[in-house]
Amino acid sequence: MSERPVFITDLSPSQVGELMASFGQPSYRSGALLRWVYQKRASSFDAMSDLPRDLRVRLGEKLTLSSVSEIELRTARDGTQKVLLVLWDGRSIETALIPSAKSQFTVCVSSQVGCAIGCPFCATGQQGYERNLASSEICDQVLYFARRMEGGETISNIVFMGMGEPFANYLDVMVAVGRLNAEWGFGIGARHITISTAGHIPGIQKLGKEKLQVGLAVSLHAPDDLLRNRLVPMNRKYPLGKLIPACDAYVQATGRRVTFEYAMFDGINDSMEQARELAHLLRGLNCHINLISANPTAGCTYKPSLKETAMAFEAELARLRIPVTLRRSYGGEIDAACGQLKSRWGGV
Ligand code: SAH
Ligand code: SF4
Repeated sequence: MSERPVFITDLSPSQVGELMASFGQPSYRSGALLRWVYQKRASSFDAMSDLPRDLRVRLGEKLTLSSVSEIELRTARDGTQKVLLVLWDGRSIETALIPSAKSQFTVCVSSQVGCAIGCPFCATGQQGYERNLASSEICDQVLYFARRMEGGETISNIVFMGMGEPFANYLDVMVAVGRLNAEWGFGIGARHITISTAGHIPGIQKLGKEKLQVGLAVSLHAPDDLLRNRLVPMNRKYPLGKLIPACDAYVQATGRRVTFEYAMFDGINDSMEQARELAHLLRGLNCHINLISANPTAGCTYKPSLKETAMAFEAELARLRIPVTLRRSYGGEIDAACGQLKSRWGGV
């Protein structure tokens, strides 16, 4: 296997400063380089027109601009895009771009190649775990789409809802969040970044201490341990009796409410009794439930709930005064909806 290149997004501002100093360059050039990468989103070192030509050549010899390369890009009729990206070691990941408002988009990033948690309904879970992504590989998924934006279009939100469990790759995820959030970096507000977890309690606890305004989403999918052990196997390690108090502590520490994701599977987790159990479980917690329509995956026989069942479930939660939204699913036509992201080239 070829040696791992150094990507520009691997470097912190001080490392960029050291590199510039080693080239005998004035320190203001570090800021100029970072602006070209994160704000002007240059697609080559040569395009960085206010850097001296010999510096651009030397940068190109030392560094690689992006850690991801497009293999295939697909666009659905609703405007959702999904891209298959290959990494330096030949492994691949998928990233989605979802229209959120007029000319505004959400990037759904992956944090790992595959995932070890093994939720049976999830295409990534069915693939198994291959490796963690580096912070550069996470940032570069956002920059890939940022470079493709047309005039007036912006990336307004980033969600860690692609492949992988973000808290199983905590350090690199947080470095990426820092770079995406920093004024010298991509400059997106922390409130516009959401991390979705299968319920990794140590991760929730650490995030609560970061004093960042990043949003937390927890994939619940079941109101009791017996069912959740099956749907989200991490529940065996971090059961509801510990997970819900950890979410409550997060709310207390950050003042932000937690979002619970609940994918609805026909005859599995969508009864009125389960709606009441869910309301009971979350009583008194500052939270919001997103009811997601389950998306079919090749390796799983679960069916999505009927629309009327989902609506009745939503109504029951609302009646019990639990804030709830029934979400429309994007990107199903191109397999870019939740849980359908899976690298077809995995393991190459
Ligand atoms: N590993 C993290 C984040 C990535 S998955 C997590 O599990 O939270 C993003 C969301 O998609 C999670 O809520 C996950 O449970 C959901 N999901 C996975 N497969 C799905 C499917 N087939 N249908 C609907 N939602 C799914
Ligand atoms: Fe992993 Fe999330 Fe898929 Fe579960 S739903 S297997 S935690 S990516």
